[in-house]
Parts: sequence; structure tokens; C-alpha cells
Amino acid sequence: MPITVSVKTIARVELVDVTYLVQQEVEKAGVKDGLCVVYVPHTTSGITINEGADPAVCSDIIKKLKQLVPPHDGYRHMEGNSDSHIKASIMGSSVTVLVEGGRLVLGTWQKIFYCEFDGPRSRKVFVKMVNC
Ligand code: ZN
Repeated sequence: MPITVSVKTIARVELVDVTYLVQQEVEKAGVKDGLCVVYVPHTTSGITINEGADPAVCSDIIKKLKQLVPPHDGYRHMEGNSDSHIKASIMGSSVTVLVEGGRLVLGTWQKIFYCEFDGPRSRKVFVKMVNC
């Protein structure tokens, strides 16, 4: 079974920095050198790596996604959340991060963001690691 990390979102659309939560799991698992896959098992949320230093980057991403995929645009999906599904596919459902010396290998400004597109909800992120 993969490790499950819980994420509670507070807005319909939100990018949540989960880097620290993933790093904690790497340490608990004792993986020193390998790969860490971070996977979102939801159809209306995604995961991405981007700049975490300036919060304006996340708000710009959210703003642009809203422009590209408006909430209502004659979608056929009965549930009424097609924009959430489309944004989730644009962002993708997993990222893979290298692990070296027990630490996630990320660029200076990089963070891992859980991307909520149909919140607020209690969500799960799966983490799986391999030594290699
Ligand atoms: Zn739906």
C-alpha cells in the first residue's frame, strides 16, 4: 500500500504546498537515495511542482487556469464540475522527485503543490518511494 498523506482544502480552487508533508514521509520511510512518486487519486485535483517563494505565482496559475477553463462553458458533464476535471488533467495526477541523502531533490525555488479544483474537501495524496 502507498503511504497516504491527508490534505484538507479550504477553497474551491487552491494550491497547497505539501513539500514538507512529503519530505516527512521520505524521512519516516528511511529512503536515502531513490525516487519518490507523489500521486493524487482524485479526478478533480492534481499535483505540480512550481515556485514556492512568491505566493503570487500560485495565484497567477489559478487566475490563468480560470481564464482558460471557465466554470461554466456549456459542458455536458451532469455533475457540473467539468472545469475541475479539465484543470486536473492539465496539471496532471503525479510528480516524481529524486531523493538524495534522505532529502527531496528540488530546485531552490521549487515546492510540490497539491492542486485543488473542486474543494473544499478532505483529500488524499499517495506517496511511494523506491531505493535505487
Ligand atoms: Zn464530475
